[in-house]
Amino acid sequence: MKKTLSGWGLYPTVEADVSYIKREENLKEIIRRKNGLIARGLGRSYGDSSLAKYVVDFSKFSYFLGFDEEKNLLKVTAGVSLSEILDFAIQRGYFLKITPGTKFITVGGAIASNVHGKNHHKEGSFVSCVKSFRMMLANGEIVNCSREENSELFWYSFGGMGLLGIILDAEIELKKINSVNIDYKGIKAKDLEEVFSLFEENHSYTYSVAWIDCLKRGKYLGRSILMLGEHSDDKNLVQKRDKKLSVPFFLPSFVLNRLSIKTFNSMYYNKQIGKIVVKKVNYNSFFYPLDSILNWNRMYGKRGFFQYQFVLSKKESFDGLKEILEEISKSGYGSFLAVLKLFGKEKAPFSFPMEGYTLALDFPVCKETLQLATNLDKIVFRYGGRLYLSKDSRMGRDIFLNGYRDSFKMFKSLKHRVDPENKFQSNQWRRLME
Ligand SMILES: Cc1cc2nc3c(=O)[nH]c(=O)nc-3n(C[C@H](O)[C@H](O)[C@H](O)COP(=O)(O)OP(=O)(O)OC[C@H]3O[C@@H](n4cnc5c(N)ncnc54)[C@H](O)[C@@H]3O)c2cc1C
Repeated sequence: MKKTLSGWGLYPTVEADVSYIKREENLKEIIRRKNGLIARGLGRSYGDSSLAKYVVDFSKFSYFLGFDEEKNLLKVTAGVSLSEILDFAIQRGYFLKITPGTKFITVGGAIASNVHGKNHHKEGSFVSCVKSFRMMLANGEIVNCSREENSELFWYSFGGMGLLGIILDAEIELKKINSVNIDYKGIKAKDLEEVFSLFEENHSYTYSVAWIDCLKRGKYLGRSILMLGEHSDDKNLVQKRDKKLSVPFFLPSFVLNRLSIKTFNSMYYNKQIGKIVVKKVNYNSFFYPLDSILNWNRMYGKRGFFQYQFVLSKKESFDGLKEILEEISKSGYGSFLAVLKLFGKEKAPFSFPMEGYTLALDFPVCKETLQLATNLDKIVFRYGGRLYLSKDSRMGRDIFLNGYRDSFKMFKSLKHRVDPENKFQSNQWRRLME
């Protein structure tokens, strides 16, 4: 079926030939017939990582295959979403060990991006909760992958962006919880230096993330709110249906401007009156604040938007972030969403996280913000950082190669071995890696 597709940023768009997978038997024939295809989950990556001439859509390949309560191990097909897993798990007293900032992604997408959450510094990325998966290779063979079996393929698939093969199903370890609530603590920081110290002082919290007001300059540069959380122990496992708002149409691009973002940022920062706030919040508002607004990506207008997410090593983070925030604030193009997280050590070699700080920013697509992103690239390059492939639609090869270096060489050599005819290709692969 011919379809116009995009990532979550609605930029870029492509005309693709899309096949919907409902049974794995159909897949082998599709792979045999087509060259230049890529798997797609729920299309929540922002850029072109799940775009190609031929797209194999897994969003309907959604089956629960078993749950081993003794080992907390859930087996599901690749198209099951994290939202479906939560619906199954929470009432039984379980939660995802690792979850990104949206639950509307598939297990296949979570593995391919090796997604991270607010607990990377304590519990790592998605690889740390996957025991094994089955994958269909370019020649149609199905292989089991785990730390013991086909281990190279296992490790490089995390962050491998669907380029090594197609994930069919996976065994995922869940964590036990006693409540749907999160014990939340919010701490205001007046500047970048303070938020860095707060992250370090609160390192023992399982979950931490900071919202930064990226339009502040001078002595308030980096003013932010650090949000900390732990699963509550109040024995409440009743799921409330979360009310959903929706952005019904594309907003005109002038709605998001320096003034509206500045006003929003001030209101957001000042909503918390005291320096410290402690309260109980539902897991949905703590982990997935944006999921309650359907189609929020339309807020940026028809031209779409891009997310700029980079990571810098711990040593370089403070100086690099300072320069980046200064550059953004100078440009006048603020971002509603500016989220700072702390990463710990990463185990999967070809993956975005590295020990240090990561900042994610959203910008509407226009000539000026694309130029701003190019200026930010230069700073990230100079500080030896890298950008997240799952958010990217625009970086150049030099920035990619500088960020991923040796791990990409290893990845590419493995890809040549398992996919010699280069069957699996996304537009991102052709833009950066071919
Ligand atoms: C609001 C929002 C918040 C987010 N927050 C975070 C965050 O906190 N942390 C984070 O890490 N990410 C975050 N993301 C990004 C998102 O988690 C990833 O991009 C994720 O990969 C999307 O999964 P998907 O199922 O939508 O896959 P898609 O976007 O459709 O595809 C993503 C990649 O997965 C591959 N893929 C999909 N299915 C398969 C399969 N069966 N086999 C092989 N490869 C496959 C695709 O080829 C592609 O390369 C966020 C995204 C949004 C929209």
